This record gives sequence, structure tokens and C-alpha cells, in this order.
Amino acid sequence: MTPAIETIGLQKRYGTHPAIHDLNISVAPGTVFGLIGPNGAGKTTTLRMLLDIIRPSGGVARVLGADPRAGGPTLRRRIGYVPGELRLEGRIRGRNLLRHYAEISGPVAPGVIENLADRLGLDLNRNVRTLSKGNKQKLGLIQAFMHRPELLVLDEPTSGLDPLVQREFLELVREARAGGQTVLLSSHVLSEIQQTADHVAVLSTGRVVAEGAVASLRLGKIRRIRASLDGADPGGIEAELATVPGVREVTVIGDEATRTTRLTATLDGEIDPLVQLFARHRVGDLVIEEPDLEESVLQLYGGSTGSASGEEVRRG
Ligand code: ATP
Repeated sequence: MTPAIETIGLQKRYGTHPAIHDLNISVAPGTVFGLIGPNGAGKTTTLRMLLDIIRPSGGVARVLGADPRAGGPTLRRRIGYVPGELRLEGRIRGRNLLRHYAEISGPVAPGVIENLADRLGLDLNRNVRTLSKGNKQKLGLIQAFMHRPELLVLDEPTSGLDPLVQREFLELVREARAGGQTVLLSSHVLSEIQQTADHVAVLSTGRVVAEGAVASLRLGKIRRIRASLDGADPGGIEAELATVPGVREVTVIGDEATRTTRLTATLDGEIDPLVQLFARHRVGDLVIEEPDLEESVLQLYGGSTGSASGEEVRRG
């Protein structure tokens, strides 16, 4: 089957600065492909080349079987795009702006705009320049989804959205996929890629440093742990932690005055053994969080000591 998106040796230099080196990705039709990486990794540059907003310095890109440079408006209408930085300043109501976009993008089924606005919580009667960043972003999402394009290219689409709206957005992405649309989603938020994407490529300083089926990348298993255990013995806790698989970077500090033991650790493995350990103590406080993407990706794939699990994972 022809890929919805394919790049072969795609490159972009800004002056002498190489932003993208030799990018090779292939996005299967009807799938969600996540492009993740820290700020400056080259996500926006990649998406802009696919949309022919900027021109590659080398290599080949094919989008829906066409060369983006030659596809023109016909190709553009088959794509819904949310740019990373959306500037909407006009003295025009959201509803009218979307109608204007619909004239360009192609037919929008009756009620679709209202339904999307309702789901995302956007007032279409407001003047767009008075909208907050998050509400402008909602407008951007509606214009990308409303004409049910074959391909959605979404550049950090949840930035500025509150968590409930982010959840609704993720639902829209799942529905798009279920309806046969292809989605290329860039993000630096690991959890949203994990919740929606089939396949992911991790970009770091313009290179794919890891790529594979989402399920086979262990990124999500890394957790930062902070806990405070009442009346525990720091030495004993440290010894117990050493027996839990995947626990590392442990610091344990005992406070004799309050008779508490505070600990921090990184867990790269199953959570249950650690929870069982805590359950043997009186837990005063417990925080378990995902490290930020940069940290987890670079820990796993950026350094020579990183290791990837899962046979489907290919390291760049
Ligand atoms: P962010 O999430 O911060 O937007 P990104 O992964 O989308 O990051 P890009 O914006 O594509 O990254 O930037 C990739 C690299 O190219 C960075 O080093 C950036 O400084 C550089 N860059 C991007 N746009 C330009 C430009 N117009 N001129 C010069 N350098 C640029």
C-alpha cells in the first residue's frame, strides 16, 4: 500500500545550520504516527516541508502519493493542518472565519462545525482576536478536522488546551483513525502520543533516534518517584529498594526529628513491586510522575548506554 507520507533522505539547512539530517519516515494510511522530541528537535521544520511551507535542502517527500512542491491546492485540500504557532488577529467571528476556510478547503457537512465547537467548548460568535491562546487553538483544530481530510498534520496541537479539551482532542484523533483518516501528530507530550499513536519516531537534533510501534517503545515505563515514609529506617529502606527491579538513582534521607524517611528514585520497570514495598510501611506522601520527554527519551536513546526493548524498535 502506498504510504500516506514518505520521506527519503529529507534534509533542511537554515543557512549552514542543519535542522534536519537525512530523515526517512513512512506513515501507513489509516494510522496515527507520532513525531516526538524536545524543543528544537526539528518537528515543525519536518511538518512544514511536508506542507510545502518551506522547501527541503535535499531528499524526497511524498504526501498522499504526490510531491508537496507540485501538489498545489488540490493536494492541500486533502490535508488538514494545525500549525505550531497559530496567529489569528482578524476582526471576524470564529464562525465566519471557519466558513471562509471551508470555501478554500472544500465542502464541510452541515452541523460539523457546530458539533466540533460544542465538543471543544468554543464560542463561535466571539471575535477571533479576542480569543485566548487556547480558544484560538480550538479554532485551528476545527478548521483542520471540519472537512474530514484524508490526512491530518497536527503540530503540537494541544499546546494551550486545558486537560478536558485535550482529552476531547485525543478522542477526535481516535475517531479520525477509526474513520480511515491518517494522522501525523507532533508533540513533546509523551502521554498523548502513547494514548493515540500506532507508531512513533523520536526526533532529537534533527535525527530520528528511535522509531517503532508505540507499544514496543518503553518510554512510558520510566517514572520519577518521591515518597516520604513515616518512622522508617533509612538504611533498611535503601536495602529494600535495591531489591526492586528497575529502581535506580536512589536517594534516601532520614529525618530523626520527624522520624520520617524521604526518598527519590527513578523506576524503569513494573510499578507493582515498588507499590508492594511501600505497602509494608506507613506512607506519608507519594508522588509518581513521568519525567519530561527530553529526559526519558535521551536517557533511553540519546546516550550510548541507552537500550531499547522490543524487537520492532529500530534505533536511528
Ligand atoms: P519546537 O517544539 O521548539 O518548535 P521543533 O522540534 O518543532 O521545536 P524546529 O522549530 O523545527 O523544532 O527547529 C529545528 C531547528 O531549526 C532548531 O535548531 C531551530 O532553532 C532551527 N530553526 C527553525 N526555524 C528556523 C529558521 N526559520 N531559521 C533558522 N533556524 C531555524
